Amino acid sequence: MQNPTEMLHPDTPGFERAADILRSGALVAFPTETVYGLGADARNDRAVARIFEAKSRPHFNPLIVHLPSVDAAKKLVEWSDTANILASAFWPGPLTLVMPLRQGHGLSPLVTAGLSTLAIRLPTHPVAQALLAAFDGPIAAPSANPSGQISPTTAAHVSQGLTGLIDAILDGGACDVGLESTIVGLADTPTLLRPGGVPSEAIAQALGAPLADHDSDALTAPGQMASHYAPGAQVRLNATSRHDGEVLLGFGPTECDLNLSRAGDLVEAAANLFGHLHALDALGAGTIAVSPIPETGLGRAINDRLRRAAAPRG
Ligand code: AMP
Ligand code: MG
Repeated sequence: MQNPTEMLHPDTPGFERAADILRSGALVAFPTETVYGLGADARNDRAVARIFEAKSRPHFNPLIVHLPSVDAAKKLVEWSDTANILASAFWPGPLTLVMPLRQGHGLSPLVTAGLSTLAIRLPTHPVAQALLAAFDGPIAAPSANPSGQISPTTAAHVSQGLTGLIDAILDGGACDVGLESTIVGLADTPTLLRPGGVPSEAIAQALGAPLADHDSDALTAPGQMASHYAPGAQVRLNATSRHDGEVLLGFGPTECDLNLSRAGDLVEAAANLFGHLHALDALGAGTIAVSPIPETGLGRAINDRLRRAAAPRG
């Protein structure tokens, strides 16, 4: 579906318009101090699914959620003294903290790719801050480029890659180049998950202890990361009927226990994927059978996730 992409100025009417577009479940690209991000309301399954669709991502990898304040962070994750130290020292700025999700967080499970941890950050770019203030909620945002292409540092780059696929671009000029956020895991011992804009030495100094190195055997690439999550049940793909002892996760007009999208809409299916897998798993069936999903558009990311869930477990 090709829509005109609105170009918005970084002024009060532009921020208000961008916030309204986000509230409607649509996508807005905006500048951060790293690169332009492709933002969606992190609480809205469909909006987050549209991020993956617009980027033509073949995988669901967890997204960083951008927040307006530390108070907003405390509502989403199990805050800690360590987080306080790092937030006081480096927020707003290019530091992302990965922390355990809180009960009742209200975020789409697509944001975390079904993980129980969440990556959060307070950006320092004034346009990102103004948008977050106007929206007053969590914005999930990966880089605003088609999957596999160069990260965008100007509104023109975003427009070249995504025009017609996203709803608006908030033009904040050129951002600093190549300075991704440093990602620190705080679910256990503070661990450097990705080097970036804040040097790990500065983080160690703030903490008074070195950061643990990320275990090189651990799963780091976004696609691999998602394989942390598998349902307790076995998963059987391309099921055209339900066998004994199975629950059926349907797609399209089929009789089933839960349907990803009766209408066969892949954005709706992606939006429902993690929630439905969790819900069926909670029924305690030995096997979740899944209807065939077309290998087109978002169907590729859905099938990638399902194949991982169906793969033999170690
Ligand atoms: P990007 O949005 O392209 O800057 O990338 C986000 C990075 O954060 C990816 O490398 C993700 O794998 C990582 N990330 C996001 N959420 C989590 C999480 N819950 N646990 C660990 N890493 C995460
Ligand atoms: Mg990227």
